[in-house]
Amino acid sequence: MTDSYSSRLETLDRTGNLRQLSEIDPQGGYLQRNGISMLNLSSNDYLGLADNEILKTEFLQTINSRDCRFSSTSSRLLTGNYPVYTRLEERLARLYDAESALVFNSGYHANSGILPAVTDSRSLILADKLIHASLVDGIGLSKARCIRYRHNNYEQLERLVFENAKQYNHIFIVTESIFSMDGDESDLPRLVALKRQYPNVYLYLDEAHAFGVRGLHGLGCAEEQGVIGDIDFLVGTFGKAAASVGAFVICSNKMKQYLVNTMRTLIFTTALPPINLEWTLFIVNKIYDMQARREHLDRIAHRVREALNPLNGGICSSSHIIPYILGESERTVDMAIRLQREGFYLLPVRPPTVPPGTSRLRISLNAECSDTDIERLIHTIQHLQQSL
Ligand code: PMP
Repeated sequence: MTDSYSSRLETLDRTGNLRQLSEIDPQGGYLQRNGISMLNLSSNDYLGLADNEILKTEFLQTINSRDCRFSSTSSRLLTGNYPVYTRLEERLARLYDAESALVFNSGYHANSGILPAVTDSRSLILADKLIHASLVDGIGLSKARCIRYRHNNYEQLERLVFENAKQYNHIFIVTESIFSMDGDESDLPRLVALKRQYPNVYLYLDEAHAFGVRGLHGLGCAEEQGVIGDIDFLVGTFGKAAASVGAFVICSNKMKQYLVNTMRTLIFTTALPPINLEWTLFIVNKIYDMQARREHLDRIAHRVREALNPLNGGICSSSHIIPYILGESERTVDMAIRLQREGFYLLPVRPPTVPPGTSRLRISLNAECSDTDIERLIHTIQHLQQSL
């Protein structure tokens, strides 16, 4: 390894920003690491389904050996497009009362592939400052011009749309519904009202952290806020609340056909194994009626937000993702270690994932957390906070 790589690693280490892979063994709402059991507050398994024995057993009973395939053997455009893709996509389209759904290998594939496919040099992308890295990479691969607007600053966004609408063939507003690091939300009715004023403005919404969690049937914030039909590209992922893998976009028939013909991260990759799609379809059907889990998650999230939002210097979560901002990376790492010793598996989130000076612990609640777990968490944080 050359000196430049080593010195970069040393710098990361010195500033508390070195990342490492650590092995964990999940057990229900808990996990084991180095023989220690901790409450899992770091996974995206928001409904607490990934380790659910009842669901796993039921699923395995429904699956026959023909459907039990562990490889799709090629891209969807070659021999990888098994019938379960059609069943899953038809089910999703029906749930959203939409023309079409298209399934991808991951949210990263979806977000890094759709924008390059649908934009060209006569397109403008207006993207929230805090969008996920997968969207940033998609923008980087596209030929469009991009302007990042200040986080959730709709006055600035409205001005940008107004100033540019006539100069570009298409404008894409790109945002998340629940933001992955701050846990705050977009105002979807306001974004919809804005896009409706212009025939060439499209709304691209990443619901990765809301799918399964929000809305009466878990379809996301667009369901909750009654705007599903107004979102041009509604992206959801299966690797979080749906306890599976993959992603989807809800869109028009024409757009689906266009993406199948142009989207490199769909065309040039081996399709998901059919067994994963079977599990996804099974879970998507179950999630529809999991209101009790969603309500419990909402209740405990409310309780944690009440305790932590005041400590966060203006960053104000409104969801089940609640940051605990500590500022400098070393301080954040130190607090993560202390909380892990107390039995809470929390991890430091540091630059470049978040802006410098806003290193944090990202508390990612799930429906398996009990009220007692939550009270103990709040009490422990408040106690440790006093010693900072
Ligand atoms: N979008 C957002 C907002 C995310 O947080 C993530 C992953 N954390 C992704 C997309 C990527 O999804 P996936 O993990 O399925 O690649």
